[in-house]
Amino acid sequence: MKKFSHLLITILLVLSSCLGAFAQDKGFIPPPTEWDETYDVVVVGGGVAGLAAAYASHMAGADTVLIEKMPFVGGNSIINGGIYASYTSKLNLNEKLGLPPGNPEVHIQDSIAGGDNLPDPKLVEQFVYGSPVMLNLLLDNGLKVRDMLTRVGGHSEFRTYTTENQGGVDIVVTQYEMIKRENIPVQLNTKMVYIYREEPMKGNVLGIKVQTKEGTKNIRALNGVVLATGGFSADIAMRQLHVPWIDPSVPTTNHVGATGEGIKLAQQVGANTIHMSHIQLYPFADPNTGILDLVAVIPCNGPGFGMVYVDSNGERYVNEAERRDVNSMAALNSNGFPTFAIFNEEMIDLFTTREDLAWGMERNRVIKAATLEELVEKLNSLPFKGENINMNVNTLKATIERHNTFVENGVDEDFGKAIEPGMTRAMYAGPYYAIPQWPSVHHTMGGVTITPEAKVTDIWGEVIPGLFAAGEVTGGIHGTNRLGSNAVADALVFGKIAGEVAATGKAPVWPGLDK
Ligand code: ADP
Repeated sequence: MKKFSHLLITILLVLSSCLGAFAQDKGFIPPPTEWDETYDVVVVGGGVAGLAAAYASHMAGADTVLIEKMPFVGGNSIINGGIYASYTSKLNLNEKLGLPPGNPEVHIQDSIAGGDNLPDPKLVEQFVYGSPVMLNLLLDNGLKVRDMLTRVGGHSEFRTYTTENQGGVDIVVTQYEMIKRENIPVQLNTKMVYIYREEPMKGNVLGIKVQTKEGTKNIRALNGVVLATGGFSADIAMRQLHVPWIDPSVPTTNHVGATGEGIKLAQQVGANTIHMSHIQLYPFADPNTGILDLVAVIPCNGPGFGMVYVDSNGERYVNEAERRDVNSMAALNSNGFPTFAIFNEEMIDLFTTREDLAWGMERNRVIKAATLEELVEKLNSLPFKGENINMNVNTLKATIERHNTFVENGVDEDFGKAIEPGMTRAMYAGPYYAIPQWPSVHHTMGGVTITPEAKVTDIWGEVIPGLFAAGEVTGGIHGTNRLGSNAVADALVFGKIAGEVAATGKAPVWPGLDK
C-alpha cells in the first residue's frame, strides 16, 4: 500500500510539472535560427517616444530601424495639443514674460501630487530634468513655439510651452525630419506581432516578428528592442477590462492604432504592468465628436489667466485649475451635457491666437458674442448631439460677476482656485467667447514597468535583458492622473534614454542631476 501511494505521488508530481511547463510555454514561439533582417536596435512605434528613441540610438552609433504598423508615423503624438511642460529652456521665456524662474523640484512635486503619490519619484525626476534638454534639441532642429507660458491644470507654475500651430504635428514633423536627415530606416505598415525571447520568460529578448502586407518576417535586435507602442485608449475591450464604466458610449481622442498590443506582447515574455486601471479622460474634447481638435487645447491653456468653466446652466462646477481627472468627473456630474469654457477678448493673447479662434468660429467650435446675453442666446440655439441646452442668462451673468470679485479679492470662495496676481484676469466687458467641451478617453497611465534607465522589468522585479520601453506604453510615471503637457516630455525623455541605453548600455545624465 505504502509502495502504491509513493508511486501515485510520483506520477502526480511528474504530471503537475508537465502541466506547469505546458502552461509556461503556452504561446511561446522559439526564436528562429535564421533571421530575415538584423539591426543593433529595433524601435517599435513611431510616435514621439519611438522617434526620439530611434534618433538617440542612431546618434549613439547603433544600427537602428523604426517599425510602425500604420501607413504613417505620428500615432497619438501627431494629434495631441502640442503642449510641453519644461521648467526652463534655451528661450528664457520665464524672464521674457516676467515670470520667476521655473523650479524642477516643484515640477516633480506637482507631478507626484497630481498622480496621488503613485508616480515613481525616480522616473518623474528623469522626465522633469530631461525635459528642457529634449525641448532644446527640438528647438535646435527647427521647432517653433509660441511666445507664452501657461499654467495647465495641476501645475503650480507657468511652465507649459505651446508649439507654433498648437499641435503635436509640429513636434512629430521636426523629429521625422531629424530621422530622415540621418537616413534612419523606417518601415511603415509593419506590425509587431511577437517578441522573441530565448526561453519562456527567461533569457535575452532577441528580436521581433512583424506582419506586413507581404507576410511575416523576423527581425533580429542584437542590442535590444525598444517598445514605444503607445497606450490602449482606442481598444474598448482592453479599456473595459480595467475600467468597466468606460464603455463604447465614451468617445476617445485617440487614433485608431492605440490598441495596446505592445503591452500584451510584452506581458507574454514576462513583463510586469502597473496602474492599468488609471485611464484619463480629456475634459475639454469636442462634445459632438470626442476629438481633441485645435480648439480643444484652448480650455486647457486658459485657467491660469481667468478662464471660467460653466455647466449647461451657466454655473461654475469646478476649480478650473484642477487636474484633468477632477475636471472630467466634475463635468460628468455637472448640470448636464455639455460644459463651456468662457473668456473674453482681453485674455486672448495670453493663451491663444486670433487665427485659432477664427478657425473655431468657422466650425461653430468657438462661439463669439458682444454681450453675455447674446452669448447665451447663441449657445441655446446651437444643438449638441442633436439636443439644445437652456442656459439662464442671469445665472451666467451672476457667475461671471462673482468670479470677478474673487479675482479682485484674490480668493476663490467657491472652489479655491489659485488667483495669480497679475496673471488671473476678471471679465468686465465683451466680446465674450465660449468653447463647448466634454470628457473623452485620452491617456492610459498604466503600462509596462521600467527602471529609470527605461529597462522593462518582469513580474519578479528583474530586468528583462534586451527589452526597453518609453512613452505611453509604460506605467508608473503618472500614477492615477497625468498632468496635462507632461506626456510629451515624458515620451521624449524616456525615448532618448531607451535609445541610448539600448545602443550603448549607458543612460544620458541630465543637467541638475549630474552631481
Ligand atoms: P507615444 O506618445 O508613447 O510615442 P503614440 O501613440 O504617439 O505613443 O505612438 C505609438 C505608435 O506605435 C503609434 O504610431 C502606433 O501606430 C504604433 N504601434 C502600436 N502598436 C504597434 C505594433 N504592434 N507594431 C508597430 N507599431 C505599433
